[in-house]
Amino acid sequence: MRMMLLGPPGSGKGTQAEYLIDRYRIPHVATGDMLRAAVREGTELGNRAKAIMDRGELVPDDLVIGMLMQRLANEDAEEGFILDGFPRNTAQARALDAQLEDRGLGHVVALEVPERELTKRMLGRGRSDDTEETVRNRLTVYHDMTVPLFEYYEKAGILRRIDGFQSIEDVAASIVSALESTG
Ligand code: ADP
Repeated sequence: MRMMLLGPPGSGKGTQAEYLIDRYRIPHVATGDMLRAAVREGTELGNRAKAIMDRGELVPDDLVIGMLMQRLANEDAEEGFILDGFPRNTAQARALDAQLEDRGLGHVVALEVPERELTKRMLGRGRSDDTEETVRNRLTVYHDMTVPLFEYYEKAGILRRIDGFQSIEDVAASIVSALESTG
Protein backbone atom coordinates (compact mmCIF):
# COMPACT_ATOMS: atom_id res chain seq x y z
CA MET A 1 0.00 0.00 0.00
CA ARG A 2 1.44 3.33 -1.09
CA MET A 3 -0.50 6.07 0.61
CA MET A 4 -0.21 9.66 1.63
CA LEU A 5 -1.78 11.55 4.51
CA LEU A 6 -2.84 15.02 3.44
CA GLY A 7 -4.02 17.68 5.83
CA PRO A 8 -3.13 20.88 7.62
CA PRO A 9 -0.56 21.03 10.42
CA GLY A 10 -2.18 19.72 13.58
CA SER A 11 -4.72 17.56 11.74
CA GLY A 12 -3.40 14.34 13.27
CA LYS A 13 -1.41 12.87 10.39
CA GLY A 14 1.40 11.64 12.64
CA THR A 15 -1.02 10.15 15.17
CA GLN A 16 -2.90 8.25 12.50
CA ALA A 17 0.33 7.14 10.83
CA GLU A 18 1.37 5.43 14.09
CA TYR A 19 -1.78 3.36 13.96
CA LEU A 20 -1.53 2.62 10.24
CA ILE A 21 2.08 1.37 10.35
CA ASP A 22 0.98 -1.30 12.86
CA ARG A 23 -1.97 -2.35 10.79
CA TYR A 24 -0.28 -2.44 7.39
CA ARG A 25 3.36 -3.10 8.37
CA ILE A 26 4.78 -0.40 6.13
CA PRO A 27 7.08 2.47 7.14
CA HIS A 28 5.97 5.97 8.13
CA VAL A 29 7.87 8.44 5.98
CA ALA A 30 7.44 11.89 7.51
CA THR A 31 9.54 14.65 5.96
CA GLY A 32 9.03 16.91 9.01
CA ASP A 33 10.44 14.19 11.31
CA MET A 34 13.35 13.59 8.92
CA LEU A 35 14.14 17.30 8.77
CA ARG A 36 13.97 17.65 12.57
CA ALA A 37 16.38 14.70 12.86
CA ALA A 38 18.74 16.43 10.40
CA VAL A 39 18.56 19.61 12.51
CA ARG A 40 19.36 17.63 15.69
CA GLU A 41 22.26 15.86 14.01
CA GLY A 42 23.58 19.14 12.64
CA THR A 43 23.92 17.87 9.06
CA GLU A 44 24.32 20.32 6.20
CA LEU A 45 20.68 19.82 5.27
CA GLY A 46 19.62 20.37 8.88
CA ASN A 47 21.62 23.56 9.15
CA ARG A 48 20.01 24.92 6.00
CA ALA A 49 16.51 23.89 7.07
CA LYS A 50 16.39 25.05 10.68
CA ALA A 51 15.64 28.76 10.29
CA ILE A 52 13.15 28.06 7.49
CA MET A 53 11.25 25.58 9.64
CA ASP A 54 11.23 27.94 12.60
CA ARG A 55 9.55 30.54 10.38
CA GLY A 56 6.98 27.99 9.21
CA GLU A 57 8.03 28.22 5.58
CA LEU A 58 8.75 25.37 3.18
CA VAL A 59 12.25 24.00 2.91
CA PRO A 60 13.37 24.32 -0.77
CA ASP A 61 11.98 21.60 -3.05
CA ASP A 62 15.35 20.33 -4.28
CA LEU A 63 16.48 19.58 -0.72
CA VAL A 64 13.26 17.92 0.39
CA ILE A 65 12.74 15.98 -2.83
CA GLY A 66 16.30 14.65 -2.73
CA MET A 67 15.92 13.58 0.90
CA LEU A 68 12.57 11.90 0.23
CA MET A 69 13.63 10.02 -2.91
CA GLN A 70 16.63 8.61 -1.07
CA ARG A 71 14.34 7.44 1.71
CA LEU A 72 11.88 5.77 -0.69
CA ALA A 73 14.75 3.90 -2.34
CA ASN A 74 15.30 2.04 0.96
CA GLU A 75 14.43 -1.62 0.93
CA ASP A 76 11.79 -1.24 3.65
CA ALA A 77 9.71 0.98 1.35
CA GLU A 78 9.43 -1.64 -1.39
CA GLU A 79 6.11 -3.01 -0.17
CA GLY A 80 4.66 0.42 0.44
CA PHE A 81 4.80 3.42 2.72
CA ILE A 82 2.77 6.09 4.46
CA LEU A 83 3.84 9.54 3.35
CA ASP A 84 3.22 12.31 5.88
CA GLY A 85 4.12 15.92 5.10
CA PHE A 86 5.14 15.18 1.50
CA PRO A 87 4.22 16.30 -1.11
CA ARG A 88 3.43 19.78 0.14
CA ASN A 89 3.08 21.56 -3.21
CA THR A 90 2.43 20.60 -6.82
CA ALA A 91 6.11 20.57 -7.82
CA GLN A 92 6.74 17.95 -5.13
CA ALA A 93 3.67 15.97 -6.24
CA ARG A 94 4.92 15.91 -9.84
CA ALA A 95 8.40 14.83 -8.74
CA LEU A 96 6.85 11.99 -6.72
CA ASP A 97 4.69 10.85 -9.64
CA ALA A 98 7.70 10.89 -11.94
CA GLN A 99 9.68 8.80 -9.47
CA LEU A 100 6.95 6.25 -8.75
CA GLU A 101 5.95 5.90 -12.42
CA ASP A 102 3.28 3.22 -12.89
CA ARG A 103 3.50 2.19 -9.22
CA GLY A 104 2.03 5.55 -8.26
CA LEU A 105 0.30 6.49 -5.02
CA GLY A 106 -2.77 4.33 -4.43
CA HIS A 107 -4.53 6.50 -1.88
CA VAL A 108 -4.44 10.04 -0.62
CA VAL A 109 -6.25 10.34 2.70
CA ALA A 110 -7.20 13.94 3.48
CA LEU A 111 -7.89 14.76 7.14
CA GLU A 112 -10.31 17.66 7.51
CA VAL A 113 -10.27 19.55 10.80
CA PRO A 114 -11.66 23.04 11.59
CA GLU A 115 -9.01 25.75 11.85
CA ARG A 116 -9.71 26.80 15.45
CA GLU A 117 -9.11 23.21 16.54
CA LEU A 118 -5.79 23.05 14.63
CA THR A 119 -4.46 26.14 16.34
CA LYS A 120 -5.51 24.81 19.73
CA ARG A 121 -3.80 21.45 19.15
CA MET A 122 -0.55 22.96 17.88
CA LEU A 123 -0.20 25.52 20.64
CA GLY A 124 -0.68 22.69 23.15
CA ARG A 125 2.17 20.68 21.64
CA GLY A 126 5.23 22.78 22.35
CA ARG A 127 7.46 22.08 19.34
CA SER A 128 9.91 24.90 18.49
CA ASP A 129 7.77 25.79 15.45
CA ASP A 130 4.53 25.72 17.45
CA THR A 131 4.62 29.37 18.52
CA GLU A 132 1.60 31.50 17.71
CA GLU A 133 3.21 33.41 14.85
CA THR A 134 4.75 30.34 13.23
CA VAL A 135 1.52 28.39 13.54
CA ARG A 136 -0.31 31.20 11.74
CA ASN A 137 2.33 31.18 9.03
CA ARG A 138 2.21 27.40 8.62
CA LEU A 139 -1.55 27.55 8.12
CA THR A 140 -1.14 30.28 5.48
CA VAL A 141 1.54 28.26 3.69
CA TYR A 142 -0.76 25.22 3.85
CA HIS A 143 -3.62 27.13 2.21
CA ASP A 144 -1.42 28.68 -0.48
CA MET A 145 0.85 25.76 -1.37
CA THR A 146 -0.73 22.51 -0.22
CA VAL A 147 -4.49 22.94 -0.70
CA PRO A 148 -4.06 22.83 -4.53
CA LEU A 149 -3.12 19.17 -4.05
CA PHE A 150 -6.76 18.37 -3.27
CA GLU A 151 -7.61 19.12 -6.88
CA TYR A 152 -4.47 17.37 -8.13
CA TYR A 153 -5.37 14.10 -6.39
CA GLU A 154 -9.11 14.46 -6.95
CA LYS A 155 -8.38 14.51 -10.67
CA ALA A 156 -6.22 11.43 -10.25
CA GLY A 157 -9.22 9.73 -8.60
CA ILE A 158 -7.38 8.75 -5.41
CA LEU A 159 -8.48 11.42 -2.91
CA ARG A 160 -10.47 10.24 0.13
CA ARG A 161 -11.76 12.90 2.48
CA ILE A 162 -11.98 11.95 6.16
CA ASP A 163 -13.55 13.89 9.02
CA GLY A 164 -10.53 14.44 11.27
CA PHE A 165 -12.55 16.14 14.00
CA GLN A 166 -13.55 12.91 15.77
CA SER A 167 -11.84 10.77 18.40
CA ILE A 168 -8.48 9.25 17.38
CA GLU A 169 -10.10 5.80 17.21
CA ASP A 170 -12.98 7.01 15.05
CA VAL A 171 -10.64 8.79 12.64
CA ALA A 172 -8.56 5.59 12.38
CA ALA A 173 -11.68 3.51 11.69
CA SER A 174 -12.83 5.98 9.03
CA ILE A 175 -9.45 5.81 7.30
CA VAL A 176 -9.39 2.02 7.29
CA SER A 177 -12.88 1.81 5.88
CA ALA A 178 -12.01 4.34 3.16
CA LEU A 179 -8.85 2.40 2.26
CA GLU A 180 -10.48 -0.98 2.27
CA SER A 181 -13.70 -0.10 0.50
CA THR A 182 -11.82 1.22 -2.51
CA GLY A 183 -9.33 -1.65 -2.82
P1 ADP B 1 3.21 20.11 10.39
O1 ADP B 1 2.48 19.21 9.45
O2 ADP B 1 2.64 20.06 11.79
O3 ADP B 1 3.41 21.51 9.89
P2 ADP B 1 5.73 18.79 9.76
O4 ADP B 1 6.50 18.03 10.76
O5 ADP B 1 5.10 18.03 8.64
O6 ADP B 1 4.66 19.58 10.62
O7 ADP B 1 6.64 19.94 9.09
C1 ADP B 1 7.37 20.85 9.86
C2 ADP B 1 8.16 21.79 8.96
O8 ADP B 1 9.11 21.03 8.18
C3 ADP B 1 7.34 22.54 7.90
O9 ADP B 1 6.75 23.72 8.43
C4 ADP B 1 8.41 22.83 6.84
O10 ADP B 1 9.23 23.91 7.20
C5 ADP B 1 9.26 21.57 6.87
N1 ADP B 1 8.79 20.56 5.88
C6 ADP B 1 8.28 19.33 6.16
N2 ADP B 1 7.96 18.68 5.04
C7 ADP B 1 8.25 19.50 4.01
C8 ADP B 1 8.13 19.41 2.59
N3 ADP B 1 7.59 18.33 2.00
N4 ADP B 1 8.54 20.48 1.85
C9 ADP B 1 9.07 21.57 2.42
N5 ADP B 1 9.20 21.73 3.75
C10 ADP B 1 8.80 20.71 4.55
